[in-house]
Amino acid sequence: MMEFIGAEPWNVKAVITKFCVNYSGTICQMCSSGCQYNAIKFRVHSGNMTLPEIDLDECNGCGDCYRSCPKLAIDIKPH
Ligand code: SF4
Ligand code: SF4
Repeated sequence: MMEFIGAEPWNVKAVITKFCVNYSGTICQMCSSGCQYNAIKFRVHSGNMTLPEIDLDECNGCGDCYRSCPKLAIDIKPH
């Protein structure tokens, strides 16, 4: 869900939610491919899960990853 109401322009960041398919063992990196700012990195966690993480220094809240995620698993929120 996009939560722009009340946010200052560009004062928003991407947030990965629990609906990301990588939490269930599927391998997907579509959001990373959709981010032209290279703000989405993948890190291996226990159980060999590879989960996306947002680099908040690089993310400018453009929303491209939101549009590229097939599961709508990314929120854009005030930060
Ligand atoms: S595109 Fe969506 S489902 Fe795929 S890795 Fe990114 S957040 Fe997860
Ligand atoms: S909101 Fe834009 S800059 Fe931030 S992670 Fe998504 S695509 Fe990259």
